[in-house]
Amino acid sequence: MPDRELPKGYEPKQVEDKWISFWEEEKTFSPKVEEVKKPYSIVIPPPNVTGTLHMGHALNITLQDILCRFHRQIGYDVLWVPGTDHAGIATQNVVEKALAKEGKTRQDLGRDKFIDRVWEWKEEYGGKILNQVRKLGASVDWTRLRFTMDEGLSKAVREVFVHLYEEGLIYKGDYIINWCPRCHTALADLEVEYLDIDGGLYYLRYPLKDESGEVIIATTRPETMLGDTAVAVNPKDERYSHLIGKKVVLPLVNREIPIIGDAYVDMEFGTGCLKVTPAHDVNDFELGRKHKLESVRVIDDWGKMTEDAGEFAGLDRFECRKKIVDVLKQKGFLVKQEPYKHSVGHCYRCNTVIEPYVSKQWFVKVGPLAKRARDAVAEGKTKIYPEQWTKTYFEWLDNIRDWCISRQIWWGHRIPAWTCEECGKLSVSRQDLTSCPNCGSEKIWQEEDVLDTWFSSALWPFSTLGWPEKTKELEIFYPTSALVTGFDILFFWVARMMMMGLHFMKDVPFKDVYIHALVRDAKGQKMSKSKGNVIDPLVIIEKYGTDALRFTLTAFAAMGRDIKLSEERIEGYRHFINKIWNAARFALMNLEDNCDYDLEMVVGLPHEWILHRLEEVKQKVKDSILSYNFNEAAQSLYQFVWHEFCDWYLELIKPALYGEQKEKKNIAQTCLRQVLGEILILLHPIIPFVTQEIWTYLPEVKQKNLAKLGFPPFRPEFVKPEVQIQMEFLQGVISGVRNIKAELGISLGTKLSLWGRVKEKNDLDFLLSHQQYIETLARLNDVHLDTDLKEPEGAAVFVVKGYEFFVPVKDVVDIEAELKRLAKELNKIQKDLNIVEKKLSNDSFLNKAPKAVVEKERAKKAELEDKKVKLEFLYDKLKRLK
Ligand SMILES: [Zn+2]
Ligand SMILES: [Zn+2]
Repeated sequence: MPDRELPKGYEPKQVEDKWISFWEEEKTFSPKVEEVKKPYSIVIPPPNVTGTLHMGHALNITLQDILCRFHRQIGYDVLWVPGTDHAGIATQNVVEKALAKEGKTRQDLGRDKFIDRVWEWKEEYGGKILNQVRKLGASVDWTRLRFTMDEGLSKAVREVFVHLYEEGLIYKGDYIINWCPRCHTALADLEVEYLDIDGGLYYLRYPLKDESGEVIIATTRPETMLGDTAVAVNPKDERYSHLIGKKVVLPLVNREIPIIGDAYVDMEFGTGCLKVTPAHDVNDFELGRKHKLESVRVIDDWGKMTEDAGEFAGLDRFECRKKIVDVLKQKGFLVKQEPYKHSVGHCYRCNTVIEPYVSKQWFVKVGPLAKRARDAVAEGKTKIYPEQWTKTYFEWLDNIRDWCISRQIWWGHRIPAWTCEECGKLSVSRQDLTSCPNCGSEKIWQEEDVLDTWFSSALWPFSTLGWPEKTKELEIFYPTSALVTGFDILFFWVARMMMMGLHFMKDVPFKDVYIHALVRDAKGQKMSKSKGNVIDPLVIIEKYGTDALRFTLTAFAAMGRDIKLSEERIEGYRHFINKIWNAARFALMNLEDNCDYDLEMVVGLPHEWILHRLEEVKQKVKDSILSYNFNEAAQSLYQFVWHEFCDWYLELIKPALYGEQKEKKNIAQTCLRQVLGEILILLHPIIPFVTQEIWTYLPEVKQKNLAKLGFPPFRPEFVKPEVQIQMEFLQGVISGVRNIKAELGISLGTKLSLWGRVKEKNDLDFLLSHQQYIETLARLNDVHLDTDLKEPEGAAVFVVKGYEFFVPVKDVVDIEAELKRLAKELNKIQKDLNIVEKKLSNDSFLNKAPKAVVEKERAKKAELEDKKVKLEFLYDKLKRLK
C-alpha cells in the first residue's frame, strides 16, 4: 500500500526534475513510427543557438506543450520535434567578441579555423537554451533533436539550393541591397530598423552646363553627390520641365550629368529637383535602371570613401559628410543648410546606419513561390489564428521582392557555387567540386558567401523529418498539424516555410498557424533590458515553480491580445497550485484503498452537482484547446477547482467523510476520487508537474505515468441542469447567512438561527431535505422553514429566489448596523436596476440582441424589482422596531 499522505507543502524543484527524467527514461514522448495511427505533429520554432530563454519563449513552449499533451490525451500519436537554429550573424558575433578578447579577429584565424572555433563554441554553450526548454517541461522527442547545420539538414539545404538554381528560381545579380558596414553583410529589408534621426538638409547648387543658370537640390546625404549620375525632375513641374534633356556640371567632380524627367519625383520635397545616385539609394537604383544611367560607387563596403570620391577617398562616410559640406561651402556650392528630422535605416543587430549599395548577390525569385503560398491560405489549406493575421500575410506576399539570400559572413551554409578561372563558367553542385565540369580546370573557387539563416529554417518542417530522403516520418507526420509562433516572424519564417513546403513537398507545411501575442510588463510596455522591466522566466521558475509560470501564461493567452505580466500575477497562480495541492492532501487523507469505487451508485446533491459541473468543464476544456482559446481552458479550470470543488464540494462532503454512515462515506469517497482524478488529468497539459506528482498518490492508479493517460470519457448521463439550479438555490441560502455575518462583523463561527418563508411546497421540501448542509456550511444553531411564518424580531434579512429569510441578530449586533447594511443593499439593487432599465429602453439593444438575451434581461429586472419591494418592506419594519 503506497503512502498516501502528501507532504505538507508543494516543493516544485525536486518534483519537476524527477518527472522530467522519468518521462525521458520512459520515452513517453518518442512515438514509435511503425505504430502510428493518428498522427499529430509540431516542429518547434528553433530558438537561436546563442539564445537564452525569455518570456516569449516560455509562452511559445507552454502553448505548444499544451497542444501536444492534450492531443496525446485524445488519442493522437504526437511527435514534437525539437531543435536549434545556427543563427548566422548572431553566432558569428558571439564568437568574434570572444576572439576580440584574445586580441584576434576572424581574419587572423582564417575561414576554416574560425568555423572550427564556432563549432567548439556550439558544443560548449549551444545546449543552454535547450536545457531551459527542458526545464519548462516541454514534451518534445529529445531523440530527434535537430540543428540547422547538422548533416541531414545541410544536405537538404544543398538539395534545395541546387534544385531552385536548376529551375531558374535562384540567380546571381546586381542588386541594391541594405548593407551593414560594421557586420559586413547584406541585410534583408525586414532586418533594417528605421529610427528618426536629427540630421540636416543641405541645399546644393548644380550649375547648368550651358551656363544659363543652375538647379538647387536638397539632400540629407551630401557625401553621395560624388556618385550622382543624373538630376531628376517631375515632367509636370512647370518650374523645371523645360530643363529636361539639358546637362549640369557636378560640383567638385566636374562630371557632366543629364537632367531627366520622371513622374517618380516628388515636387513637394525640397526644391523639387532630385539628385540621382544609383549606387547608393534604393529608389535611385530603380531610376538608374529605367533611364540606363551609369552607376558610380563612392562608398565601399566598410563605409569608407572609394577612389572615385577623389580628394575624399579613404575617409569614413560620416567624416566625409562634414568635410564635403565645408568644401562645398568654401566654393560657393552650398546654398543653405537646415536641421532636418528624418527616418534612417539601422542594422537590427548592431545599430549601425545602413548603407544601401549595389553589389553581386544571390536571390530567390519568389514570384511563383509566393503565389502558391498565398493561394494555400486563401483556399483554407492552412488556417491562421487569429484570423486577422491573414490580411497581413496577404499584404506581405502581394508586395514581396526577390529574396536576397547571400550573406557575407562565414558561419552558415556556404553557397555551393564554383567559378572557373580558366573558362569563367559558374557551376552549382550537390557535391563539392574540385575541378570545373566545363573545362576540367582545377583552378576553381567557391563562393565566399553563406546563405541567409532563414533559408535553412524555411525547410525546417520537412528537413527535420528526413527530407530529401523518403522517410516514414515524412510520410506520416507531414504536413505538420500546427505551428505556434510570434507574429514578428510571420514574414521571415512562416511565409517562407509555406513557399518551400509547397514547392518541395507539394503540400502545405502545417494545417494551422497559431500566432500568439507578446508578453509585456504589467503596464503593457514591451519588456527590455534598458527599461529594466524584464521578468526572467528562469528566475520565476526558481522562485515559484514551472507550473505557476505555465498556468499564468496560459490564463492570459487570449487570442490576439498581448499578455500583461507581473510577478504578482504569477504569485497569485502559485497560490492556485498550492490550493490544488492542499485539496489533494485533504482528499488523500480521506480516501481508502479498499473502497468500492463504483460511480453508478453515486447519488446525492453535492455529488450529482459536481459531476454535472465536471462534464461541463471537460467539454469547455476540450473545445477551448481545440480552438486555441487557451485562456478559456485555464480560466474554466481555475474557477471550477477553486470556487466549486474546493469552496463548496469539499465542504459539503465533509460530514459524510467524517461520519459513521458507511454507505454515505463510501459514496463521497468514490465521487471525490473520481473528480480529483479527472481534475488532475484536465489540468495536466497546463501544469504537468504538480498533477503528475499528486496522481501517483491516488488510490487505484494503474497507469503511473499521467502523461500517458487518456482524456476522461464524456458521461452524458451525468449532465443534470436541474441539479445545477437546485444547487444554486442552496448556495444562495448559505451565502445569504454568510454575507450577513460578514457585513455585520459577526464572526463566521458564531452560531445563529435561520427562519425562512418558502411559499412553494417543492422548494420547501427541497430545503428541508438539505437542511443539514445549510446548518453545517452556514454554521447555524437551528433552521426554521415553512410556507408561512411570522418573522422573528430584530432580524437581518435576505431574499433568495423570491423567498424571505431572516437571521435574528438583535442579541449579537445593533439594529442600526443592520439598517445600514440594508440601505447599502438597496442602493446596490437600485444601481443594478438602473443598468437593466437603461438596456431595456435602448431600441438598438432590443432590435439587435438575440431574443433569449432580451428575455434574460427582463427576468433579471423582475427579480430585482421583487427583491427591492421585499427588502424595502423589511427595512421599514425593522426601523419601526427600533
Ligand atoms: Zn550591423
Ligand atoms: Zn572551366
